Amino acid sequence: MQRILGRIVVGMTLFLIGFIAYSSQIFIIWPWYGRALSIPLLTLLVPFNTLVGLLLWNYWLCVTTNPGTVPDGWAPDTDALEGYEVKKLTGNPRYCRTCNKYKPPRAHHCKTCKQCVLRMADHHCPWVNNCVGFYNYGHFIRFLFFVDVACSYHTAMVTTRVLEAMDKPYYEGPETTEFIFIVLNYATCIPVLIMVGLFSLYHFYCLLGNSTTIEGWEKDKVATLIRRGKIREIKFPYNLGWERNIKAVLGPHPLMWCCPTIPPGTGLKFQLSDTEGIESQEQWPPRDPSAPLHDFRLSESPWTYNNGSVNPSLEPSNSARRRRPQAAAVPPYHPDYQEAYDSTSEDNDGDATMNRWMGRARRGSEGYEVQAIDREEILRQYVASRGADVGRYKRYVPQPPSESSSDGEETLAERIETWRAGEAIC
Ligand SMILES: [Zn+2]
Ligand SMILES: [Zn+2]
Repeated sequence: MQRILGRIVVGMTLFLIGFIAYSSQIFIIWPWYGRALSIPLLTLLVPFNTLVGLLLWNYWLCVTTNPGTVPDGWAPDTDALEGYEVKKLTGNPRYCRTCNKYKPPRAHHCKTCKQCVLRMADHHCPWVNNCVGFYNYGHFIRFLFFVDVACSYHTAMVTTRVLEAMDKPYYEGPETTEFIFIVLNYATCIPVLIMVGLFSLYHFYCLLGNSTTIEGWEKDKVATLIRRGKIREIKFPYNLGWERNIKAVLGPHPLMWCCPTIPPGTGLKFQLSDTEGIESQEQWPPRDPSAPLHDFRLSESPWTYNNGSVNPSLEPSNSARRRRPQAAAVPPYHPDYQEAYDSTSEDNDGDATMNRWMGRARRGSEGYEVQAIDREEILRQYVASRGADVGRYKRYVPQPPSESSSDGEETLAERIETWRAGEAIC
């Protein structure tokens, strides 16, 4: 769904570029120059169309180029001196559990692209229906640059036409169609120029500092930490100086910076700035020392939480569950749990008579087995223990049935018969 939506946005962007670029030439410039080919017309339009062509070319490359992904089996060189990015929680190399791959420095996972993107500039960009990463960041920067230049050229061209028309009497001015297209071109081009202009200024600033938008946020956080005196001053490790920063994205030859090129390097490893002293020991982004250190260790017992509290989703041990599958109707800590207990099961790890009423559950931080409470059994045991006291209770001992009892029953039946007969007579 998001892919289809992305394609629609790309189609709309291409339509907008096409409208601004060609409606201005067909409906404004062509009538202005008397609808005939001339040297001044070509002088005006050839540079403009070159800019539009470069803009579209870079836009298309930005949309279709894979921003770069992690090769299968890639692992960070943990012995390398220049360091590698680590997960802040554990200090281990960063790992993407979706891709099942290690994450190189500056890489981030994109849910829409379903891959880890090398040197991810920002989030997934809807305008290009792609992520902007290591392999298409240069195309993106050139696209922004040509949008700025082409829109400025377009605005200057249309404004010249308007200024010229204002100097003439109204009947020599533009026709209605031309006038409508002048308005429409201003209404589309000026907002694009302002918005893309501001956006590109930010990205040119990032390019000069060799940082991404994500790293821009990290830099802001670090600046706050330094301001509050929590950490000492630290240099952004990828800033190599503006010239080398541009070369790292647009290629080594300044004359070719405006032409689409493949950036040098692999996107898996980045040159770090020359650091003096202990700065090279620092991780980027540096850790906030006042934040609690999560020393995560896997619990030895699967039944407990790491903080030592009781697991609320307490369940009987697996062996108990295998022995008593029918006991699942009531939880193990329920007093009636033992009713479903099968006394014939093989249970060798305890007293058989005790186990009969014992619902067993594993709980507690150290895996103690705690017996479930059977209130009736406790009462029975209590009464039995108290009853053993000499002289405390008169004890009734039932007599075994004697032979005479059958006679007695017959006598009772006869007596009832007699009584009923007497009632009937009365
Ligand atoms: Zn991933
Ligand atoms: Zn993406």
